[in-house]
Amino acid sequence: MINFDVIRHDEAVVLASAPLHTHSHFRTGGKAGLLVIPQSERAVVAIARQCIEANIPLYVVGQLSNVLVSDEGLDGVVMLLGHAFSKAHVEHSTITAEAGIWLSRLSAIAARHYLSGLEFACGIPGTLGASILINAGAYDGQFADIVKETRYLDAKGEIHVCHGDEHRFGYRQSRFIADRSLILTSKMILGEPEENMYHKMAVLAKKRRDSQPLSSLSCGSAFKRPEGYFAGKLISDAGLKGYTGNNAGVSAKHAGFIVNHGDASSADIVDVFNHVQDTVLERFGVLLEPEVRFAGHFDRIPAHAHTLDPLFGG
Ligand SMILES: Cc1cc2nc3c(=O)[nH]c(=O)nc-3n(C[C@H](O)[C@H](O)[C@H](O)COP(=O)(O)OP(=O)(O)OC[C@H]3O[C@@H](n4cnc5c(N)ncnc54)[C@H](O)[C@@H]3O)c2cc1C
Repeated sequence: MINFDVIRHDEAVVLASAPLHTHSHFRTGGKAGLLVIPQSERAVVAIARQCIEANIPLYVVGQLSNVLVSDEGLDGVVMLLGHAFSKAHVEHSTITAEAGIWLSRLSAIAARHYLSGLEFACGIPGTLGASILINAGAYDGQFADIVKETRYLDAKGEIHVCHGDEHRFGYRQSRFIADRSLILTSKMILGEPEENMYHKMAVLAKKRRDSQPLSSLSCGSAFKRPEGYFAGKLISDAGLKGYTGNNAGVSAKHAGFIVNHGDASSADIVDVFNHVQDTVLERFGVLLEPEVRFAGHFDRIPAHAHTLDPLFGG
């Protein structure tokens, strides 16, 4: 087991058999064997290194806004990075921030310093680390455009720094997915002050409110954009907009979103993913690739789905 004596008692919150549904945007999922919420980089690194050495499965998550956790939960250690690991430092046009910072806070800090380039991120509900992992983006903005340097922990427990093109960013892609790394901090270079930055953020927020089911329980776009198509349009054209299975379904407001109507289990939600993928494939011959990641045991997950496996150990 992990020896927590290597960190001070105030450097991490540790909870045994902790429910994960309260942290998840779908509000579903079972328990974590051990939920650890580190309060410092020292704690993040020390706990990860122990998991590596003792071969204990370590899952790293942020806001769980892009993960469906199985009803059976996750054995091992779930490390949740959030407010307690979210320091940000601004110097001239550079912001360096810890991986747990929420994008809403990060973009607000940038705007407060009149630095442009993070307006696109203000409405994405996620942490910086997860958003760099998949090069999150919206409304013509993406992390690839601003991230210059990232510090990360590799599977041997060693800290490295990568720069510029070494991030190998692509559409929902970065080197950190294949290399299985724990992102610690990132340095972003932002642009000159733009007039009306706050106005631009307000316009983007309104666009989201008008088009997305923000009051529903979802993990955002369920599927990636297939080349030459829009996932939401294909789902809508297949007659699935507003489709309801067992307590979960396709949003009636935006067909690209799969939503929990309130009492769904993760099994109910994965059934909707499978049904949508099967139907669109049958109708249009297009295989939709899930954007949401699947963590833990499911009887069946959609084809080409990313599973959230332990980052290290196990
Ligand atoms: C309403 C809504 C709207 C959304 N809109 C958008 C949008 O416009 N654009 C967009 O791109 N996404 C969008 N999303 C999806 C989601 O917010 C992003 O993918 C976000 O980056 C996920 O952040 P998170 O902290 O919740 O990650 P989680 O869901 O907790 O984790 C996602 C993945 O990141 C990994 N991870 C987390 N932290 C780290 C770390 N420090 N190092 C390495 N790996 C890590 C996890 O292991 C997991 O594989 C939306 C979601 C919702 C609910």
